[in-house]
Amino acid sequence: MTLSERDLKVIWHPYTQMQTAAAPVGIVRGEGACVYDEDGKCYIDAISSWWVNIHGHAHPYIAAKVAEQLKTLEHVIFAGFTHEPAVELAERLLALLPSNQAKVFYSDNGSTAVEVALKMCLQYWYNKGEQRTKILAFKNAYHGDTFGAMAVSGRSAFTNAFEKLLFDVEFIDLPTADNISELRSKISALSSQLACFIVEPLVQGSAGMIMYEAAYLDDLMQHCREEGIFTIADEVFTGFGRTGKNFASDHLQHQPDIMCFSKGLTGGTMALGVTTCTQYIYDAFLSDDRLKTLFHGHSFTANPIACAAALASMDLFTQPETVQNIQRIVDHHREFAMKLQGHPRIKEVRQTGTIIAIEWETGNDTSYFSNLRDSLYQYFLSAGIILRPLGNIVYILPPYCITNEQLGYIYSTIQQALDTI
Ligand code: PMP
Repeated sequence: MTLSERDLKVIWHPYTQMQTAAAPVGIVRGEGACVYDEDGKCYIDAISSWWVNIHGHAHPYIAAKVAEQLKTLEHVIFAGFTHEPAVELAERLLALLPSNQAKVFYSDNGSTAVEVALKMCLQYWYNKGEQRTKILAFKNAYHGDTFGAMAVSGRSAFTNAFEKLLFDVEFIDLPTADNISELRSKISALSSQLACFIVEPLVQGSAGMIMYEAAYLDDLMQHCREEGIFTIADEVFTGFGRTGKNFASDHLQHQPDIMCFSKGLTGGTMALGVTTCTQYIYDAFLSDDRLKTLFHGHSFTANPIACAAALASMDLFTQPETVQNIQRIVDHHREFAMKLQGHPRIKEVRQTGTIIAIEWETGNDTSYFSNLRDSLYQYFLSAGIILRPLGNIVYILPPYCITNEQLGYIYSTIQQALDTI
């Protein structure tokens, strides 16, 4: 039996299984921007797996650092104890972040980083004795699949079954020149109920790589600060170079009160979540007479191996070579976007940093799991490229080590698909 046949007998996969009849591809190893199946076929990972492998696969430097850590200290309870990888990672991360970020809270993945951020805000207002339990978020947002993170994500097929159990969230449109003053008024009117405003800065990933202007986001976040509403930048996807700068928040003047990270944090090697916050928020918990703690903790909080992987990933991320690679991808994407302009099958091409999205004309078939989506996915897979369209949106966000040749092959395959499908 192949790996894929054995898998089908015993594994329940996220999302894919029930929509596509096709069996999962069995992957046995990875190297650079490629992963290889049981027959040795190479697949170029054009989406850094689930947007995580910023340095490509099985990077020898990260592997060595992880192995070293595994032999030294694999895990220790993080309540009442600490260790070098956790402390060093917090120090180095804070040094890269906007200057108001002062404390690091560890968790397990992107969704839990968001849960922690929301709980910090909700518990802050509870401690203060204020009834601020409503959360502000953008329509079509995606912040994760756990209950709190799902609650602040845009309502869709993902959330229908749980609708009655979700938080009280006010969803607003993305800001534009036309609606910005209306949005400000809406926020002001609701301010006494609002605990926080959570955003995916600059790019709404799962909604289909929807990109929006930093200036209007800045305006709204600043307005929230004036109204005493905490701002949360969910940088789980946009962090670590994706938008061309270290973090999407680096494109803003406003410094968020809370930030969430995962995905690229460990270079895609280990699951780890981080929520950072200001000294002000931390101090508010210290000084509260009733609680004096944030009621949240995970068994694997600050796992030393995951922290060591993140440190190794950060070593690579801060090398001049990575900065150059990011710029190289940004430039190549820009050239490709120019080439695609005016193609009759394309509705829109958009780019932010190393992310490029090509929106296909759909005709009548507008459903998310459309035939078009399946055809595109299968087309790229047979060409040896991992590209998982979001509905009719094909996007590339490659590992930064991708070669020009591999990028060129992805671009030309997309061009062929445009003329074929
Ligand atoms: N926030 C954002 C912006 C994301 O894109 C994602 C994952 N796509 C998450 C949170 C959830 O992260 P995870 O899948 O690691 O729970």
